[in-house]
Amino acid sequence: MFFNNRLKTTGGRYHLQDHHIDINPKMYQVFGMPVLVGIIKHELCHYHLHLTGRGYRHRDRDFKQLLKQVGGSRYAPALPTTKAKQPTYLYICTECGQRYTRHRRMNTRRYVCGKCRGKLRQVS
Ligand SMILES: [Zn+2]
Ligand SMILES: [Zn+2]
Repeated sequence: MFFNNRLKTTGGRYHLQDHHIDINPKMYQVFGMPVLVGIIKHELCHYHLHLTGRGYRHRDRDFKQLLKQVGGSRYAPALPTTKAKQPTYLYICTECGQRYTRHRRMNTRRYVCGKCRGKLRQVS
């Protein structure tokens, strides 16, 4: 079993060819041990059933039954996607071209360029 950093959205993956299991380390970092164990159990169900020649796919009855027996998770919980970016506003000085990025809107009538006191224009 390996921790695989390339797994982005899935909790784990069982490789049919060489019978190894990749586990997304983020699942542990984000959700902790119980969730990680559930995912490992899930992947081990694939593993076990595949090796014993039974239905190892999600839709197979063998899989569903075994998963229930061992208490594995059906689905890995969704990982939080990358944090919503704070909106940023870009202002540019109409005189000298100096750029200013702000997380809040600036009143361009009240604020002028810090360098040349020129008028600012909102670009985005
Ligand atoms: Zn699966
Ligand atoms: Zn300026």
